[in-house]
Amino acid sequence: MSGDITSYAYLFSAICFVLAIRGLASPETARTGNLIGILGIAVAVGATMLLPQISTWLFVFVGIVLGGAIGAFIALKVKITDLPQLVAIFNSLVGLAAVLISGAALHDPSLYGMAQGSTMPLQSLIEMAISACIGAVTFTGSVIAFAKLHELMTGTPIVFNGQKAVNGLLGLSAVFAAFAFAGWGSEGAFWGMVILFMVWGAMVVLPIGGADMPVVISVLNSLSGWASCGIGFTLDNPLMIVTGALVGASGGILSFIMCRAMNRDLLSVLLGGFGAEAGAGAPGGPAPAGTVKSGNADDAAFMLKNARSVVIVPGYGMAVAQAQHALREMVDMLKEEGVKVRYAIHPVAGRMPGHMNVLLAEANVPYDDVLEMDDINRDFATTDVAFVIGANDTTNPSARNDPASPIYGMPVLDVENAGMVMFIKRSMATGYAGVDNPLFYNDNTMMLFGDAKGMCENIVKAL
Ligand code: NDP
Repeated sequence: MSGDITSYAYLFSAICFVLAIRGLASPETARTGNLIGILGIAVAVGATMLLPQISTWLFVFVGIVLGGAIGAFIALKVKITDLPQLVAIFNSLVGLAAVLISGAALHDPSLYGMAQGSTMPLQSLIEMAISACIGAVTFTGSVIAFAKLHELMTGTPIVFNGQKAVNGLLGLSAVFAAFAFAGWGSEGAFWGMVILFMVWGAMVVLPIGGADMPVVISVLNSLSGWASCGIGFTLDNPLMIVTGALVGASGGILSFIMCRAMNRDLLSVLLGGFGAEAGAGAPGGPAPAGTVKSGNADDAAFMLKNARSVVIVPGYGMAVAQAQHALREMVDMLKEEGVKVRYAIHPVAGRMPGHMNVLLAEANVPYDDVLEMDDINRDFATTDVAFVIGANDTTNPSARNDPASPIYGMPVLDVENAGMVMFIKRSMATGYAGVDNPLFYNDNTMMLFGDAKGMCENIVKAL
């Protein structure tokens, strides 16, 4: 009877998760989507507690209270600019959980309703091998991605001679170890396989540069889904299979969309080295010599007020400065003056997919004013002022016209086609990819040096 209730509850949860993902696809419905997802999780946990295999609720409650408290603390504390590394470290936990659950199932199969020792069917060994391998790669790959994004290690690619051969050999040995484990089924072979895949996961992410990190995070997110899907098979839990497959598939689709947005193919991203070419400095590194025109808030206010159309291009610096509210106030004043103002969003602006949309939504910017790159890029030619606030790589024309540039091939916002370009940033430092932006030296560019929020507030005063 409890089995029936659990099955219906799992079906309900699975439907909730599908609806949640659908809701999260648009800022208007994202909050509702989130709530539906929470409902799905709550029902799933409640239904799992009713399963006959759950002999005591104590550990589950301890887990929920401890995990919930840590999760709530982190959610309240984390800065929105740190979300990508948070996603990375959470992905790593899913990977580690997949490894540990497989290890536990192998150590004591009876706990999971499986046959003991040598009688364990080949199918179970294969399921364990697959989820542990994916989990191990996800774990170490995500830890390295976290360290790079959190600047605990350099964000530029770490490369050495013969790296691809070393990584290839490591990968082959790991796959061989997985076959050996499936053949022998011993715990020694299991942990040998896990260690090889962990080393391989770290080695694969080390040579990947900053500009490709969004795709890597998304791929690791997808892998964490497939790892839990595999665990669902080991534990014979249909909801874990469905949920894992949903995360795996949606992460995979997101990786594909991001690769297309950056004009990169997934294989070349995963083979690494993007941004490793000579000339690519470290993020925030020195910029080349040259003369730039700089202005102040009064100059900017005068030009903006007298423009007919303005396109705002937000980037990572707006998130750091939390300038979205001051920006919104500035835009409201310009609109009152009859200026047509819209926002242009690059798919990898900021440090996570949808980063700019989240910030602008927080500042109650109307969704209709916010346009994706493909929908607005042509309009720069008829725009009086492109107002670039804390963005850099996503406007860099070298990506379009300099084959030697490490970011060559990434589509960018064509801000230089506007009558005038204003850049708000604190210095001449490079952006995340460590690449200099030749636009700063153009005749129609005015640099507004300063913190993005402070500068917007000063423009508001001047207006
Ligand atoms: P960039 O990282 O290219 O540039 C951000 C600029 O903001 C810097 O040049 C910096 O210049 C400026 N800045 C920083 N703090 C402030 C501040 N307080 N006030 C004003 N300016 C500030 O940002 P983009 O958004 O253009 O590009 C995103 C980059 O991040 C891409 O390379 C992308 O590939 C990468 N990335 C994207 C992810 C995603 O999922 N969206 C995830 C991980 C990486 P200065 O120091 O002079 O102020």
